[in-house]
Amino acid sequence: MQRHQYDVVIVGAGGAGMRAALESSKRTRTAVLTKLYPTRSHTGAAQGGMCAALANVEEDNWEWHTFDTVKGGDFLVDQDAAEVMCREAVDAVLDLEKMGLPFNRTAEGKIDQRFFGGHTRNHGEAVVRRSCFAADRTGHMILQTLYQQCIKQNVEFFNEFYVLDLLMVAGKATGVVAYELATGELHIFSAKSIVFASGGFGKVFRTTSNAHTLTGDGMGIVWRKGLPLEDMEFFQFHPTGLAGLGVLLSEAARGEGGILRNKDNERFMERYAPTVKDLAPRDMVARAMANEVREGRGCGPDGAYVMLDLTHLEPAHIDAKLPDITEFARTYLGVEPYTEQIPVFPTAHYAMGGIPTNIRGEALANNTDVIPGLYAAGEVACVSVHGANRLGTNSLLDINVFGRRAGIAAAEYAETADFEELPDAPETFVVDLIEGMRTATGEERVAAIRADLQATMDINAQVYRTEGSLKQALTDIEALKLRFANVAVQDKGKRFNTDLLEAVELGFLLDLAEVLVVSALARKESRGGHFREDYDKRDDVNFMRHTMAYRSIDAEGNVNIRLDYKPVVQTRYKPMERKY
Ligand SMILES: Cc1cc2nc3c(=O)[nH]c(=O)nc-3n(C[C@H](O)[C@H](O)[C@H](O)COP(=O)(O)OP(=O)(O)OC[C@H]3O[C@@H](n4cnc5c(N)ncnc54)[C@H](O)[C@@H]3O)c2cc1C
Repeated sequence: MQRHQYDVVIVGAGGAGMRAALESSKRTRTAVLTKLYPTRSHTGAAQGGMCAALANVEEDNWEWHTFDTVKGGDFLVDQDAAEVMCREAVDAVLDLEKMGLPFNRTAEGKIDQRFFGGHTRNHGEAVVRRSCFAADRTGHMILQTLYQQCIKQNVEFFNEFYVLDLLMVAGKATGVVAYELATGELHIFSAKSIVFASGGFGKVFRTTSNAHTLTGDGMGIVWRKGLPLEDMEFFQFHPTGLAGLGVLLSEAARGEGGILRNKDNERFMERYAPTVKDLAPRDMVARAMANEVREGRGCGPDGAYVMLDLTHLEPAHIDAKLPDITEFARTYLGVEPYTEQIPVFPTAHYAMGGIPTNIRGEALANNTDVIPGLYAAGEVACVSVHGANRLGTNSLLDINVFGRRAGIAAAEYAETADFEELPDAPETFVVDLIEGMRTATGEERVAAIRADLQATMDINAQVYRTEGSLKQALTDIEALKLRFANVAVQDKGKRFNTDLLEAVELGFLLDLAEVLVVSALARKESRGGHFREDYDKRDDVNFMRHTMAYRSIDAEGNVNIRLDYKPVVQTRYKPMERKY
């Protein structure tokens, strides 16, 4: 076993982790631990754009952006955090530009901007062009740009290192334990500050836009430490996944003029959101699509999807602005977007919830207290700037703004703090976890349990939820956890044992699915991405508050989930009816 010591350890090399590393490594000795090679992080799959009120192509300002973020998030957004994000957005984009990111340009050479759902001028008057982009490969460009800068700045990377435990002493974060994929060796990292930037957990669903690696490890690790997770019931379903596959077609397709149509060729969004139509926030569009299908206006042999129509756009325009996603339609569905409509249906996309933090990126132990030495940023965190529903292009923004803030805060803390003693035998938990799985002889297989988990989540906890469906999901998850206790991996070796790591990841998915469902059961209202058919209205009297879930173990050793709540921070916007 190897031991390492760094002032700051960052877990994750996506946009949030690398943006944090750029700040932290300027000030302190910093290591980035990542289970993937950095440029394979999911940020690289992001397509449509990153928004900021640059006002390059039409009038705009950060206050309008803040309002849209709060309203888009169905008023569960912490408004102080949204103000920070929208105000700092302009510099976040310009910083990337200075680092060399090749944004699309206007004829005059300014950064070009396009429409995206829920982004409006003057508090909802009409849609506004706010998203900065590099064709439909914006995330790829961000990731490559940040990686280049990290290399230039000599950031130390530990690639294909899986962090599996957080070490804490007397309520302070003091290190992490990582498993090296190539060798199967464990590494103990002692650090003054630890930043989780480990991304989302979309793999709890079957139909998802998320990469296979998005298994919520960071959330799962802090959860097992008894630390809270916030707003886990709020999962975003992106309207336009390729039907039956979930592969994402960016909202940029609608931003560039694409139209959703039902089997009667009707532009049905005109009925649901008369002002902004196809560019309503994602939760509304996803529900509208699911509703069209339920009411028998779906397309295809089973009426199971709707169509995304780009056929009225010039092929040259499609090639310039949407090259990758139109290629996906050709490759995966054999559809030619120049001339044919594309079958689409909502796909699980983004976790609004996560590790609660304040606007400095400091992780919280409860509603108010900071955990010394622990930080989180990006999709793993809940600041909360997205509330109950994230607006498109606000995540690439979030990872840059709050990645930067967490990197600065972690480094500043490390500059004054001392290294703490690690607990005795800090590796014990991970050794037990891994050796338990490697040597188990049970009959259960990881792939089968994961498939059953994803199936019940797709059926019971998706766009529409009821008490009955959520209870069914919970019963299924409990049964799957029992089966998981009997899981065995076939590969008993040490080197590149991805079989073993998939089993560990499945453990995180099961935990997080349970938190999601328990939080959703208790929220007897409909808000943003969480829609309860049995409580189909937003209830500001009882539920204008964040869910805080905690794991506790009772006297008999049973694991329980306890729910508490936290007030929403409101500054200037009062809840209003969400019409678009
Ligand atoms: C297909 C797709 C398109 C999208 N398009 C857009 C868009 O156009 N605009 C927008 O704003 N948002 C978009 N999003 C959302 C946005 O891309 C993500 O929310 C964001 O990039 C997440 O960044 P992150 O840095 O938090 O995490 P990620 O980029 O997911 O990185 C996570 C990192 O954590 C590491 N990691 C995870 N677990 C461990 C572990 N146990 N040990 C060590 N390392 C670990 C991984 O190696 C990885 O480096 C899109 C998402 C998808 C899936």
